[in-house]
Amino acid sequence: MKAVVFREHGGPEKLTFEEVPTPRTGPEEVLVRVKACALNHLDIWIRQGIPAYQIPLPHISGSDVAGVVEAVGERVEGIAVGSRVFVSPGLSCWRCEQCLAGRDNLCPTYGILGAKVDGGYAEFVAVPARNVLPIPDGLTFEQAAAFPLVSVTAWHMLFTLADLKPGETVLVMGAGSGVGSMAVQMAKLVGARVITTVGSEDKIVKAKELGADEVIQHSKEEVAARVKALTGGRGVDVVFEHIGPEVWEACLHAMTRGGRLVTCGATTGGEVKLDLRYLFSRQLTLKGSYMGTRAELLAVAALIGRGKLRPIIDRIYPLRDARAAQEQLLSRRVFGKIVLKVE
Ligand code: ZN
Repeated sequence: MKAVVFREHGGPEKLTFEEVPTPRTGPEEVLVRVKACALNHLDIWIRQGIPAYQIPLPHISGSDVAGVVEAVGERVEGIAVGSRVFVSPGLSCWRCEQCLAGRDNLCPTYGILGAKVDGGYAEFVAVPARNVLPIPDGLTFEQAAAFPLVSVTAWHMLFTLADLKPGETVLVMGAGSGVGSMAVQMAKLVGARVITTVGSEDKIVKAKELGADEVIQHSKEEVAARVKALTGGRGVDVVFEHIGPEVWEACLHAMTRGGRLVTCGATTGGEVKLDLRYLFSRQLTLKGSYMGTRAELLAVAALIGRGKLRPIIDRIYPLRDARAAQEQLLSRRVFGKIVLKVE
């Protein structure tokens, strides 16, 4: 099959489009003919190489896959060849106490398709049968690939960890990111007031179209001060964060007393400063988040199927142009998801 692989860690130039063996399908696996695969920042970390992700090389990235079932393993039941499916990106054991309690993203063996094992930058991918789910009605393959990872992440952060409630105010960092574009919509769906940030003028209108009540252009305005002004000096109840040191202090200072901050990313670096006196005297809560549960993915897929949430796609590239697609993601000139289309 054709796939985009890298044989050593490094820059986007390490990605090559080439012929590789089609994956073998295990007895409890499904072979999916990939139609679309969305990009995530994770793909960039994996390609660059970081200690948290030790992977054998060569490697195929891609965590968000939609396609058609090509073949099923001998012990797989209830999945028909030819059905249109998307793939849950979370891989876990389904035997440990966390999995059995429905907290599969806390499984000691938890990993992500395209990070732990080869992913969807390819014509075919083999995945556990239990990870294959029907595409919600009315969605294209590109749309079905654009929502799983970011929507399960955003849902887990906003509702399970931050416990966002109707009437509260949330600051969603980076409406133009995949995860931010989902978080803005989800927070509006439950009746929260949404303040969000964007990096350029052209993204202001797009953020408002998602439902944001207020949009701060962080390249021109001081985020914490603007949030304070927009909330009558109070600050927000919840901060939805994934950017890291570049915005960290603004996020802390944008919170009201008792505020909750949840973070799932570090696109500008991994280390931040924290004054413990500020943390305890203002009674803040900081939580780290990684993906979400299968039940949460089913919940968001249902909402997407009913048109309550929209996967936002910035641009679609052919698979062979994965390098250009990753370069666009790195440029930040993106609003929503970048998707690879497999012919
Ligand atoms: Zn487990």
